Amino acid sequence: MSAHRNYINGAWVESAAAPIVDRNPSDIDDVVGSYAAADAAQTRRAIEAARAAFPAWSRSSIQERADLLDAVGGRILARAQEIGRLLAREEGKTLKEAVGETMRAGHVFKFHAGQALRITGELVDSPRKGVSVTVQREPLGVIGIITPWNFPIAIPAWKIAPALAYANCVVFKPASLVPGCAHALAELLADCGCPPGVFNLVVGSGREVGDAIVNAPEVDAISFTGSVETGRALAARAVAGMKKIQLEMGGKNPLIVLDDADLDNAVECAVQGAFYSTGQRCTATSRVIVTPGIYGRFRHALLARTTALVVGDALDETTQIGPAVDAAQLKTDLDYIAVGQKEGARLVAGGERQPAPKNGFYIQPTVFEDVHNQMRIAREEIFGPVVSLLRARDYDEALATANDTPFGLSGGICTTSLRHADHFRRNAQVGLAMINAPTAGVDYHVPFGGVKGSSYGSREQGAYAVEFYTRVKTVYTNANIAG
Ligand code: ADP
Repeated sequence: MSAHRNYINGAWVESAAAPIVDRNPSDIDDVVGSYAAADAAQTRRAIEAARAAFPAWSRSSIQERADLLDAVGGRILARAQEIGRLLAREEGKTLKEAVGETMRAGHVFKFHAGQALRITGELVDSPRKGVSVTVQREPLGVIGIITPWNFPIAIPAWKIAPALAYANCVVFKPASLVPGCAHALAELLADCGCPPGVFNLVVGSGREVGDAIVNAPEVDAISFTGSVETGRALAARAVAGMKKIQLEMGGKNPLIVLDDADLDNAVECAVQGAFYSTGQRCTATSRVIVTPGIYGRFRHALLARTTALVVGDALDETTQIGPAVDAAQLKTDLDYIAVGQKEGARLVAGGERQPAPKNGFYIQPTVFEDVHNQMRIAREEIFGPVVSLLRARDYDEALATANDTPFGLSGGICTTSLRHADHFRRNAQVGLAMINAPTAGVDYHVPFGGVKGSSYGSREQGAYAVEFYTRVKTVYTNANIAG
């Protein structure tokens, strides 16, 4: 028996399979909870329930949907400390970051409550006399939502809220490492009166539950955030089934630091972007590209800040950097550190697993220098607190290096030159360009997404979410009729 069950067709459902045991990465002896693992048959039931709920939900009033999302957003905000604590305990980001993420999820629901009221179309004249054309938006149907572990409540929120706002039904599969926040969200939706079948939670493995969602003909669209590898594999199958798809994947985000940068701010941007949330953000800074006039001062200040960072238990108020999320991610981080050394990069800070304070997956914030952009540590996403310092002759070389990557999610520049900031804004091959701001840390009311290998499909978040979660119908009305 698991203490926490899946939510299918308005009921909490037990599973015969072995439960998923959610452990605290700051202290693996601390069990957060046990969660029923859905199987393929239960996933199918969730999809069928969503399908069956869709006709009525697609005709629900905008007020009904706005009220539901507003109520969920309000409850999340009211319980931000408690849910944030759960988040920090299961994912390992610090309590401050976790409460901040939870608040953001609440704001996302509130924002989309408003958006439900703002669904508009267009009325267009026709070249034909007496004929008018209406362009209107309609829901897609059933949306499969598949999310990663690094933002256990914000990412589900920014997919589920617009899906429901635009009158779609949802089958939600969170990452198995973070079922707690997903369960809390499902409870809130249920408590706030979400009709049966409109929202379903199926916790389980990608191979079983994820595959069942991606392969189901009754699922009309998939919104996925996760690794490049999984995203690409999933996209091919979704397209074969003619589903609409949206992918948010990795990054290898550059931060350019020019000679004329404000030094303190540049160091803050690098430290914040590279190490906060333990570097486990797709927008994390992983390459800092520095011009010669500031290199020495920047390096010195960066190393001083990095080595002073407090790594520890996510729930301890003094902690600045929590642990890696699990043993596998910790191993990936350490393996990449070994790769960097083998490739000839110079390790100048960190690089080691940290044994204290508890039995957790702690790793030191790590800086490499003498990195060139063709090294694996400069090309592949590590997803840990590891940053590479690269040198560039001037702005032009820095920009060329920044853009020389298969990814294109976020990119930043620290400069006081309006000319360079403006050139960067226009020419950085990214979806998110940051000027004197860290590459990570985005607002909830504006679009989010990347270019090149980072993203596929239309943008998430803000008003732009309407593009993915609706389709357009063009209606011709001929008034030239008798009677
Ligand atoms: P991460 O480990 O960074 O979360 P993954 O791409 O491994 O990235 O996982 C992202 C999400 O995709 C998770 O919810 C995972 O369970 C799910 N997933 C993994 N494999 C598949 C698959 N074959 N089909 C559908 N979903 C999958």
